[in-house]
Order: sequence, then C-alpha cells, then structure tokens
Amino acid sequence: MREDNIKKYIDFSLEITQGCQFNCTGCFIDKEGNYWPTSNQFEKLMFLVEDLNNNEFKPMNLQVGPTDIMTCNNMDKILSSTDVKQLAKKFFKTAINCAFLDPYEKSYIDFGKKLNWLLEGGLVKFIIPFEAYHIDNVEYIKKIRNHIKITLDNMPDVTHTKTYFILNYEATSIYDRANNKNLTEELILKTHHSNLLKGFDVGFNLAHSRLNMQKPENAKAFYDSIMTLKKYLTGAKLKYDNKIDVYDLMLHEGTDWDIFYKAGKLYMTPFLQEGVASFDKEFEVKKDWTFKGLYETYLESFLNQVDWAHNNIDCKNCQFVPMCAERGVHSLMKIINTTNCISPLKSLEQKVIWK
Ligand code: SF4
Repeated sequence: MREDNIKKYIDFSLEITQGCQFNCTGCFIDKEGNYWPTSNQFEKLMFLVEDLNNNEFKPMNLQVGPTDIMTCNNMDKILSSTDVKQLAKKFFKTAINCAFLDPYEKSYIDFGKKLNWLLEGGLVKFIIPFEAYHIDNVEYIKKIRNHIKITLDNMPDVTHTKTYFILNYEATSIYDRANNKNLTEELILKTHHSNLLKGFDVGFNLAHSRLNMQKPENAKAFYDSIMTLKKYLTGAKLKYDNKIDVYDLMLHEGTDWDIFYKAGKLYMTPFLQEGVASFDKEFEVKKDWTFKGLYETYLESFLNQVDWAHNNIDCKNCQFVPMCAERGVHSLMKIINTTNCISPLKSLEQKVIWK
C-alpha cells in the first residue's frame, strides 16, 4: 500500500524507563509498567520504522522515556542496548528524558560516554522535566547548564540539537509564588524571551492525559486543565503575538504521527496543545505493526471522528474538522464526554499558519 500524497513525520516514543527518584509536582507519569520489549517486538519495531520510511513517512524523533533516565532502575540496560542503538539509528534524532539533577559531576562523564556509544553518529535532544517555580532560579539553571555541558563534552560523536524544558501544565497553573498567582501566562511569555532561559525551548504537558480517562474524575480533571490551557494559550497569543508559539496552529506539524510503544502495545496518540499523550484503548493499534496496519488504524479513526464532528454542534461548520480528526481531537472529546471545542485552532483562526 502506498499513498503518494502522504508525507508525514514520525515521532516515536519508546516508554522503557522504569522508576524515578523524583516527585515533581503533579506528575502522573507511569514510573512502573514500562516493560522492556521482547526481542520479537524489537524486530517488529525495526520493521515498522523501515516500512513507514518506505512509504513516505520520515522517522524524525525517537524519544526514550518516560521517566528521568539517570535515576531510573534500568539506565545501564538502556544505554548499553544494541536494540535501542539500532532503533535510534533509524531516526533523524533521539530525545532523551533527563532531569540533570544528579548532584555528582562525575556521573555526567559516565552518562555522556554511554550516550555517546548509544547514539554514535546521530543527533541528540534533551528533554528536562522542569518545575515552574525554578523559572527565575539562576543557580538551578546554572547547575543544569553545567551538567549538560559535562555530558556533551563526553559525547564527541553525537551532535546536540536542543534542550527542551517540559513543564507540567497542571502544576504551573496552580503554583502560588508570591501572590497566589497563576503563572501560566507569565511562563509562556518568559520561556520565550528570558535571558536566563536562552537556548532552551519550552513546552507544556498535560499530565492528566496519561491517566485512565474512562474514570469520570480523571476525565473532568483533564477537561478542566485542557480548557484552561487553551484559554491561556489563546490569550497569550492574542496579547503577545509572535513572541508566543502555539504549536497547534502550524497545520503541517499536525500531520505528524505520534506513536508510542508501551508495555507490549502500540498507540497512535493524539496531538493537541503540545503534550497530550493518551493510552486509552481508543488510541491503541490493534492491527499489524506495519505501515498498512497503522494506516488503516489512522483512517478508521479519522473517518469515525469526522462523522462524530459533523453531528456535533460546536464542530459542525468548523473549517478545522479534518485537522482535528487527524490529530485525534474528536476522539479525546468523545472519551471525556464533551461536545465543547477543546482545541485552540478555532479561537485563533486568523493566526493559523496555512501550509
Ligand atoms: S477546532 Fe474545535 S470546533 Fe473546530 S473541529 Fe476542532 S474541535 Fe471542533
């Protein structure tokens, strides 16, 4: 099967880190249950990535997570795995989830050397879970910069592309610094032009999305946080315009496929407001781990969502139905049982960057 009009990017997350020593505010990441793929599953993953590549899908990012690699229980197993190394070679770059908070500088020498072996000849991006209240913390940022530098000094065969702070939106939205203030808008702006954070990219994740949203309390918590983030992203974009990126507005970016391997299963997760990752059965790939299997999964989901959207008052006459269906937005709305638009696209219609 080959669709000549489809040229997409693949972001692939390999959820294999087990355990974490940190307790970041509001974190709902699964610290356990991120089981190691069997050798047969590794073979199937390799085949899948090649098959996607042969069908105009470019393997862009491999992400290794979801917990901090330096304090997970299986760091050495990952960093010395020939299976992970071979898989990483198939991608344009590899993103490593690392907090860079180990206090011992020598740990970063060892870490850098091992990572150099794993990603030899490739590109690396670091993803740092970042607590919102450190936004003005000069010492903290200095320490992280130093740890990254030591690591990179020991990675002569790998090119560093960028470092990305990932902020837990649920935590930033409730953080009470001096005046019981919601920091989100300030964060959105600061992280885009603060000297202290120069060189770092910043994004949000919505940790509630990882919870079982079949439970009404989780669905409600997710709905509340995604609607508040939408309000802030929309408000900040209208107020500060080019100083603010709203990733969802770049429609060509929305043609990525976000695929997750987790505990023996594959998921094609939604793409919305930067950091939604869901392991709901709605997003599970139940067909073969091939281009054909994934394409059919995607197509079925797309058509079901378009049907649903055309019967939903909010979406009915909206020009973004195909975009939202492609990104799994309507599936999310169905799961959390809402008919209200959860995407910033319509509210920022005039800012959308058409391809
Ligand atoms: S932007 Fe909102 S209203 Fe429009 S299709 Fe998407 S979810 Fe529906």
